[in-house]
Formats: sequence, C-alpha cells, structure tokens
Amino acid sequence: MIGSLLIANRGEIACRIIRTARAMGVRTVAVYSDADADALHVRQADEAVHIGPSPARESYLVGDKIIAAAKQTGAEAIHPGYGFLSENADFAQAVLDAGLIWVGPKPDSIRAMGLKDAAKARMIAAGVPVTPGYLGDDQSPARLQAEADAIGYPVLIKAVAGGGGKGMRRVENAAEFADMLASCQREAASSFGDDRVLLEKYILSPRHIEVQVFGDSYGNVVHLFERDCSLQRRHQKVIEEAPAPGMSDETRAAVCQAAVNAARAVDYVGAGTIEFIADASEGLRADRIWFMEMNTRLQVEHPVTEEITGVDLVEWQLRVASGEPIPKRQDELAIDGWAIEARLYAEDPAKGFLPSVGRLEAFDLGDAARIETGVEEGADVSPFYDPMIAKVITWGETRDDAREQLIDALDTAVVWPIRSNAGFLVKALEHPAFVAADLDTGLIARDGDALTPDALPSEDALAEAAGRIVGDAALSGFRLNAAPNRTVRLLVDGEAVEIEAREPGEEIEDDGLLLTEAGQTWSVTPFRAGGVAAGGAADGAILSPMPGRITAVEVAAGQSVAKGQKLVTLEAMKMEHGLVAPFDGMVAELDAEAGQQVAEGRMLVRIERAEAA
Ligand code: ADP
Repeated sequence: MIGSLLIANRGEIACRIIRTARAMGVRTVAVYSDADADALHVRQADEAVHIGPSPARESYLVGDKIIAAAKQTGAEAIHPGYGFLSENADFAQAVLDAGLIWVGPKPDSIRAMGLKDAAKARMIAAGVPVTPGYLGDDQSPARLQAEADAIGYPVLIKAVAGGGGKGMRRVENAAEFADMLASCQREAASSFGDDRVLLEKYILSPRHIEVQVFGDSYGNVVHLFERDCSLQRRHQKVIEEAPAPGMSDETRAAVCQAAVNAARAVDYVGAGTIEFIADASEGLRADRIWFMEMNTRLQVEHPVTEEITGVDLVEWQLRVASGEPIPKRQDELAIDGWAIEARLYAEDPAKGFLPSVGRLEAFDLGDAARIETGVEEGADVSPFYDPMIAKVITWGETRDDAREQLIDALDTAVVWPIRSNAGFLVKALEHPAFVAADLDTGLIARDGDALTPDALPSEDALAEAAGRIVGDAALSGFRLNAAPNRTVRLLVDGEAVEIEAREPGEEIEDDGLLLTEAGQTWSVTPFRAGGVAAGGAADGAILSPMPGRITAVEVAAGQSVAKGQKLVTLEAMKMEHGLVAPFDGMVAELDAEAGQQVAEGRMLVRIERAEAA
C-alpha cells in the first residue's frame, strides 16, 4: 500500500480523499494557493505545501510545482481529484516520469477519450452504441449539410475538441444548417483552436445516464451500476441519484455491460465514468441509450454510488494504484436502496445564479445527511474557484425516502450572508416532474421560474421572528418602533418590512437574528427610528460584495439618489454587477473611482436616508 499521498486539489474533494487516506493509515500532503492558506484541506492534511498565487493557472494547474511538492515531502503518489489536472494526460505522464504513482488511468487511456470524434470511433469499434451521426474527415460544408439531411432534424453540431457545454449548436431544419455550422466552427476555432465538428442526431427527451466503472492492472473491469444526472442547469449537473429511476434489470444489464466494454477498449485502470445519453420518450430502453463520453477520473457525484453499493471508491482507487486487484468481483456487488446528492453552490438563484463570495459568517448543514464540504463557518468563499461549497447526500430504502430526507436537510441549511442555491434545490426536489421521476435534461431550463426561491420569508415566519424580537427587545429595554397593536418594522437583509408580531412557535429555525426557511437564510433586525440600524445595507453603507474592479461611478458626493438607482458598477468574476441605493437619500460619502481595484467588504458609497422613516 502507498505510504504517503499528495492530493493535487482543494475544497471538498481534497477533504474527501484525505478522510479515506487517513482511515487507511496513509500520510497525506495537501497543496494550497494563497487564497487557501487557511483552508480546511490544508488543516486536515498531515503536511501542506504552498504552491503559488490564488489563480488556479498559477497554482493548482502548474504540474511542475505539484510534482516538486511531492518530491520535497517524500510523497509516493499523487491523487488529482476531479477538475484541474485530473484529465491531463501530459501531467499524468510527468508524474510517472518523476517516479511517482499516479492515482488514475494510464495517460494513453486519458488521451484515447480526449477528443469526441476519436473516442466515438473507438467505441464504435468496440461495439458500444454511440449516438447516430457523422464523424467523417470530410469537413466541407456541402458534405456536412448532406449528412445532416440524412440524419434528420433536429441535428446537433459538436466541436470535436469541445467541452464544458461549449461549441454545440442545435439545428432545427436544413435551411439554417449552413449558418449554424459557420458559427459553431468559429466558436470552436477560437475556443479550442480546432474547427472540426461532428454531427449527432439531437435526442429529444434526453436523460443523462452514466455508469461507474473500475479497472485494475490485472485486466479486471467491473461496473458499480448507474447514476441518473438528468437534472442539469446549462449542462451542469445539479442533482444526481442512483440508481436511475425506471431502469429495468435488462436495460441496466445492457448499459452496464456496454460501459465495461468501453472501459476495456481503452485498457482502463482506476475509477472512471461512462456517460450515456438516453432517448427517454418511451422510458429507458436498451436500444435508445448511446455513449456520449468518458470521464477518466473520480466524478463529483461518486458518493451516491458509494451509498448504494457500500464501496468506498477512494479506498479502491488507492488500493488499485498500489497494485492490488479490485477488492470485489462483479457478482459481489449489488444495489441497496436509493441515494440522492444535491450540489450546494455559493450563488444567488434570484440574481441569475451570480456567484456569492465573502466570509461565511454562518454555515450549518446539520448532521442528518452525509455532507462533503471543504469549508467551515468563518471560512472565506473565494472568487478564484468553483463556487460549490458542499454536497449533501442522503440514503433511503426508497427514492421518496431519500428525497424527503434531502429536502429536510436543505430546508434547514444555514448559509449566510453568502447566498446559496439551497432554496432552489428544495424547489427542484419538490417539483412534480422530479417527484414523479419524469426526468429530462431540459426540465430546469423550461421550468426555471417555478424554482426561483422567494425573495422574503413567509409572513408566518416573519410574524414569529417579529414576536421573538419584540420579546427580546422588551427584556433588554430596547425601544422599538412598534405600535400598540404590535405592528413591527423589521429589516430583512436590509429591506424594510412591516409585520404583525406573533408568539413564536417551534416551526421556524432561528439562530440569533438569522431566520432560515425553505433553504434560505435572512438576517432579521429591528428597524429603528432615525434610520440607522445595525448590519447590511441598513446604515446605507454600500460595500464591495467581492474583490473586483470598479468600471463606472454613476453618482457624485452630495447627490440625491432614489431607491434602486445605480451607484457604482463593479466588474468581478468576469461579470458586471450594479450596486444600487438601498433607499431614497443622499450620497454622504463616496470612496470609489473608475478603474480602481477594490477588496471585498470595502465601503464604496454611503447613503444617508432622505428623512427619518
Ligand atoms: P461537453 O463535453 O461540452 O460537456 P457533451 O457531449 O458531454 O458536451 O454534452 C453535454 C450535454 O449536452 C449532455 O449532458 C446533454 O445534456 C446534451 N447533449 C449532448 N449530446 C446530445 C444529443 N445528441 N442530443 C441531445 N442533447 C445532447
């Protein structure tokens, strides 16, 4: 067995790998960037090496620094996690050339699955069903048009070097093919430096089905059944489950065997995932499930497979990389119950899923569900990396059981003042189509509005919060702006709300002045006469919500402004954010200039209320 392991990653996956390594008595080495100096994975590892500045391309993506860190600490092996360098065949080769163990497949296996057309051609040769389409070398527009006509519309044009949902065009009819082709080729050339495309039949009612496979260096390959990841937002998975609803034993046997054949065809060692697309217009049928691509690494959603099989996939990875055979035979593996995973992101569904960064003042996901996270209360969520802050996973005897437990766990999730998508996830898990397992990858795009969480807590929750505040205030002798009929004015995340106070019940989670309901958390404070109350935008101080650059200042000191009026434009995380006046008033202070770089939490403008409310 490997004695020591360097984890070339960060966040939840680094913590996940460290946990298993420790349990197996393997010494762990973390690597970290400037932004991660205090990160959980750094504290959990036995040793940690600083590898550079915060941007990933100067730290987590620099293979040489990572190999040097392994050498310096005497680590014998490197686990890449997912993302970053995990599917970089040249890095895998460099690790091997440095005399280290690579916890992953052979570089040639990674390469074989790298380009979409070559991977598909290889799968066809191995007898694996692939989506009907055209893969040819003849890239002339006339030939491509003729092939598209023969496939039948709608057709999907894909860049052979594409990835991350980029370089794809859906074409509805022959007349628009030429224009779509030209635009796809332009995007492919500029994004991937390769304008070659392939054509696929566009699958209507598509479901994303994937199979976990595992190989060892003795030629054994097993599968650990399927996952369904059809609930996607912009081709990104949001909720994943195992097994796939509506999968018959025959269909499962066929698709899992196809996955094993695919892995064998590239001489696969370690954990991998074969992704398929299914035409589910008439349920899941073996003759309508086609190979899409292979991910040659551990997948984000691997925990749902662990939950239904009882296998620790990271343990298997470390054993196989150490030269042991796969610990179980195919006939020793079985599905037990149902598991669902939700990806918790630091983002604001009400603002177009804008990433939300800064200090996580309150963070509590309870202890009922399996939580995989790389952050703790008090940690900073940095703008440099993926905004996923946790995965919440539940297991039940049945799908509904797992689903209800997951709703309960997310419902009471406290994430503040950073915004999270927990409210959106709760709504998705309660959506009638999800409940009925009537899944397809377009569900969120079609019905996204119904999944947007409410801007404010319910009247009931507010009335009880008001009652609690009135009670607390009475005790402390605090003078509230409350009329005798107990109408209370509150500030809910800086927004003034008037509510009839009520004796608090036990329904609502209450953590001091934080109110959590349906996966969302708000700060609730008394609104004090005179206009200056504690916290948020209440005192009119407009802080930079994240590090960024000011691109425009729209107001001058002393100017009157109306509620909602734009004050400053901040460019951060490749997007522009307008910061607006929280109420009518006057610009009392202005400390912002166009072109200026600002830190998160820095005060830019202070608005004085027009008059005492
Ligand atoms: P990428 O490598 O950019 O992620 P994929 O080929 O994996 O691209 O496809 C991404 C997503 O696009 C899939 O998860 C699926 O939702 C959708 N998709 C891909 N191929 C088809 C197809 N032939 N028909 C319908 N939808 C498709």
